[in-house]
Parts: sequence; structure tokens; C-alpha cells
Amino acid sequence: MSNPLLHFAGLPKFNEIKPEHVSPAMDSLLAEGRALVDSLATSKEIPTWQNFALELENMDEKISRAWSQVGHMNAVVNSPELREAYNDNLAKLTDFYSDLAQDERLYAKYRAIKNSVDFDKLSAAQQKIINNEVRDFKLGGAELPKEKKARFKAISEELSKLAAKFEENVLDTTNEYAMFIKDGAQLTGVPEDVLQASKAAAMADDKTGHKITLHFPSYLPVLQYADNRNLRETLYRAYATRASEFGKPEFDNTPIITQLLKLRKEEAELLDFNNFAELSLATKMADSPKQVIEFLETLAERAKPYAEKDMSELVAYAKKLGITDMQAWDVSYVSEKLREEKYAFSDQEVKQYFPEAKVLAGLFKVVETIFGVFVRKSNAPTWHKDAHFYEITRHDGTLVGQFYLDLYARNNKRGGAWMDEAITRRIVNNKLTTPVAYLTCNFSAPVGDKPALFTHDEVITMFHEFGHGLHHMLTQVDDYSVSGIKGVEWDAVELPSQFMENFCWEWDVLRHMTQHVDTGAQIPRELFDKMVAAKNFQAGMQTVRQIEFSLFDIKLHSEFDPNGVKTPLNLIEEVRDQVAVVRPPIWNRFPNNFSHIFAGGYAAGYYSYKWAEVLSADAYSLFEENGVLSEATGQKFWQEILAKGGSRTAMESFVAFRGREPSIDALLRHNGMN
Ligand SMILES: [Zn+2]
Repeated sequence: MSNPLLHFAGLPKFNEIKPEHVSPAMDSLLAEGRALVDSLATSKEIPTWQNFALELENMDEKISRAWSQVGHMNAVVNSPELREAYNDNLAKLTDFYSDLAQDERLYAKYRAIKNSVDFDKLSAAQQKIINNEVRDFKLGGAELPKEKKARFKAISEELSKLAAKFEENVLDTTNEYAMFIKDGAQLTGVPEDVLQASKAAAMADDKTGHKITLHFPSYLPVLQYADNRNLRETLYRAYATRASEFGKPEFDNTPIITQLLKLRKEEAELLDFNNFAELSLATKMADSPKQVIEFLETLAERAKPYAEKDMSELVAYAKKLGITDMQAWDVSYVSEKLREEKYAFSDQEVKQYFPEAKVLAGLFKVVETIFGVFVRKSNAPTWHKDAHFYEITRHDGTLVGQFYLDLYARNNKRGGAWMDEAITRRIVNNKLTTPVAYLTCNFSAPVGDKPALFTHDEVITMFHEFGHGLHHMLTQVDDYSVSGIKGVEWDAVELPSQFMENFCWEWDVLRHMTQHVDTGAQIPRELFDKMVAAKNFQAGMQTVRQIEFSLFDIKLHSEFDPNGVKTPLNLIEEVRDQVAVVRPPIWNRFPNNFSHIFAGGYAAGYYSYKWAEVLSADAYSLFEENGVLSEATGQKFWQEILAKGGSRTAMESFVAFRGREPSIDALLRHNGMN
């Protein structure tokens, strides 16, 4: 067999994989998969972990490992041929897995294992895998009687259509809007690069002057910098009323919101939940809507005095600028002026202190110190000369995990930064497979004879992604489906990544990763202090704003009755009465373009942003208590959180590490609110 994608004995053969390998490999793996599913489903043997679940795990591991190589190359060395092969096979793969999720013959066998006398003899990880499977089949409607099943399916289809239409309406109303400004004086204050872009955009439309749109790179700088208050108001109004009754009726999301809420409630009730929020939380770390609401309200209570202080400082500063009745369209503008006055420093200045080699050495040093491991460069075939390969070993030389690091932006590479799984740790028949991760960023490549220089934000991004990588690579779980980040609840998966970010705000850690590219000097304390202060600028206001969105979301999907007289707009006003310090105008239609919860995956889940921040800050606070580079604490973090992956609940792991349930104190303190 010469297809490199069908090579499972060692590391991926990135130097051999070609687009023409993709279809034959996936066709063969999927055919093998279908044959296996059929034989397992029709087998007369009593299903066990060994003869049933493990077989499916093996199949999933093979398909996923091959596909991850294709997906990764499609993301980092894209070409028209590869993209075509990727898209063709993605559809086949989606079909395969959706058939699998609907196969009730498999469900019956998982249930039989769960109810067998031998279930207790399985490892905790294996029990968790069986329980997750049974849960997911149930949530997919597997236990419903026939006519309810048909209704459930119809609702799911209708919900996807409505979500897609919601997003289209937001996009269409965003795209449709354009303001042409002939007189450049109207745009005083707006940065030069934005003006250049708006000029080019007007020219592309055969117009003179500037084209201003509701797309973020155009909208945001105008709100932040344009001295012209009327212009800011006009643009803000257009933005805040997108997809509402103030525009074209065919783009109005108001009826879609009501319909989505009704159908989500019906879907949840079919599955015996009281409301959609309960259904959403069934697979998350938070237990109940009540727990989430209490969490958010407690946080709001603590943050609101700081938000009010931020707000009165802003109002006072606005008066200095001649704005005596500050409005929603002034908030960004005044904030930007205040921020500049209080914390002026440039990213360019900071960047000179963060050359690549020093930053990488600093990151590895932190990992080596707290976890008692070595990180060093190693060798493996990669997809590009700028991608490198590393390994993590224990002090006795035992291999723990390996990773590819691909740092620079280039053509045909998808933007952003992410961690992905190349190979997942498992032990089958006493044979250990060590985990391998992809760590991908899009930082600026070195120019001339200077090394690559990173902004502080980029350094944070690297620590963040490395945290995901550690979750994947330091796992000690032996069974595939809950190993590493697999099976970790959605609202807990950012714990290790956000945890790692904390070190970038630690003076005694950060200064050792700095070395001015010309002078060799460490970063001055004064500059660092400014960076910290800038991080916490308006932290109170930002916190209550996130809480406003989160509370609206969770209440809308639990307490709120979509068939009642109260509207979503009434609800968001009530939430604002309780937590907000900035009151938008009554014609603001924020819910109509809140895509996260109506078109994305965040329905009854928006709270996760704050939830994960609380977990990571509170986990880090144990390091603050014991010494931020404490190896004993690091070992505990490894053993109780990173090692356990999805083999037990995130709450069990957290409590085992911290000795108690999460507390919001550390996050508030890190944000200067204590
Ligand atoms: Zn992340």
C-alpha cells in the first residue's frame, strides 16, 4: 500500500501526501468503516467493550487520523486541487458520521453494555465513553416513539433553516449599506490607513471620495475616531437596527427569533427537558440554568460598582471634549481618547522586546519548570520549511508528546491561531500511541536579517494555543474518545489555554522572555505596568456588558415564554435595568443581529466566555498562592486536570485540583476589581 494517508505506523508522511491520495484513502477507510458498522450491528454476540466499543474506537481513530492530515494541509498549504479533494471528501465524511449517529442498532448495543453486569469492571474512561454515547443518542432523539421522532427531525431541519436565514439577513443588511462621503473633512480623526481603504472601496464602485460600510474594519474606526458626531450617530443607527423592522421586511429577524425560540422549546420538551437551556447544559459543565443565572448575577453584583466608576470617568472625560449628553455612539470615541491619554504606548515599541527565539525559550522554560519535562527540537517530515517539529520528554527520557509548530503567516495558509490533534494518545493491547499536536499561528515572518518580532498579544496567543496543546499532549488517558481534549465539556475546554495566558502578565516570568532586538535590554518595568493598566482599562464596563448578553441568552432560553406576551426586547431591557451601565437608545435592536445565539453554537451557552475565564483565573490563583512556577502545583495541575482529559467531568477535575468549587475572586482580582 503506497498511499501515505493509509500509513498508521508512525508520524504522518507530510513530504509524500498529494491531493490525489485523498479520495482513494478516504473511500477505502469509509468503506472499511461501513463494513465494520454493518458487521457489528448485525452480530449475534453479546456486545462488550472489547468486541464492540473498542472496534468502533479503532475505526474512528483511523479515519480521524487520516482526515486530520488532509484538513491540516488544506488549512496551511492550500491549493485548488487540495481544496477540491478536501470538499469532496468532507461531504462523504459528514454523511458517514451522521448515519453513525442515527444508527439505532448501535445505540441498542451501547445500552446493553451500560446495563451489563460487567459495566462496573470497565475503567472510568471506558465507562465515560459508553455513557457519552448513550447520552448523545438520547439527545439525538433515539428514544422517541415513531411520530415524535418524525416531529423531532422536522424541528431540527426547520431550526437549521431558520438559523441560516437569520445569519443571511444579518449579512445582507450589513452588505447592503454604504455611505459615500465626498468631503474628506467629514472624516477628520479617522486613521490614514482606514481612509486609504475607504477611498479604494469608493473607487472600486466607480465613485469619488470615501465609501463607509457596516463591516467592522470600516465601521469600528469611524465610531472610535471620527470627530464628526452626526456621522457617528448615523452609522451607529444603521448598525444597531440591522435586520429589524426598521429596514426591508424580508430582512427582518424579529419573526425568526420568535419562531426559533418556540421550536427550541418544543425540541427540548420532546426530550423531556423543561426548556432549551436545560437541553443545552446537558452536555456542558454547568448543571442548571439556575446555577448559570446565579453565577452571572453574583459576578454582576461584584463588577457593577467598577463599571459605574468606569462610566462616570468616561462621562466626565466626555464633558472635557464638549460632549455633555454622552450617547451610545460616543462611547467608543470618548473611550479611545481617554485610553490614549492614560496609557499611550505603541505595539511597535513593545514588539522590539519580543524576538522569536527568546519568546519560545521563555514559553518552554515555563512548561519545563512547572511540569518537570524537557521540550526540544526534533525531526520529522513537515509541509513547509518554516514548520518545525518538537518533542516533550520526562527527565528520564520517556517520550510524552510531540508537536509541529508553524508560526508565520504566508499565502495559502488560513488566518488565525489554533491547536489541532494529529495523533491522540491511547493504549491498545499494551501498545502506547503518544499524542502529537499541530500548533499553528499567523505571526509576521522575519524581515531581512532581523528575527521575527512578536507583539505582546501574539505572545499571549502563543501561550494560549500551547495550553490547548498541553491538554492534548500531557493526557494520561488510555482510551481514544475521552483522551486529551476529546470529550471535555464545551464550557471547560478553554481552561488550560486561558490558564497559560496568565504567565504573560507575570513580571518575573515575562521579563525573562524579553530582549530588545537592538540593545539586548529587558523590557522596562514602567512599560510593563502600562501594559497591565491598559489591559484592565474599563474592565468593569466590559464585564457587565458580557454579563448583559449572557443573562439575556440564558433567561431567553429558560425563564422566558416564547408564547407569552413579553417580547425578547422587553427581556433585554429588564436585564439592562439589573446590570448595564451603558443604556442604548430604545430603537437599538441588538437581539436581531445576535448571531452567536441565534445562528451560531452559543444558544444558552454565551455564559461560557465568563465561565471559562473564572475557571482559568481560579486555577492560576493556586499557583499565585504557592509560587507561580511551583513544580508541585504544576504536577497537581497536570495530574488532576491535563492528564484526565474527558475521562471525568470538568467539575470533578477542577475540585480535585483546587480542593473546592470555582470562585470568581481571582478573575475579579486579575482584572483590577478588588
Ligand atoms: Zn482557545
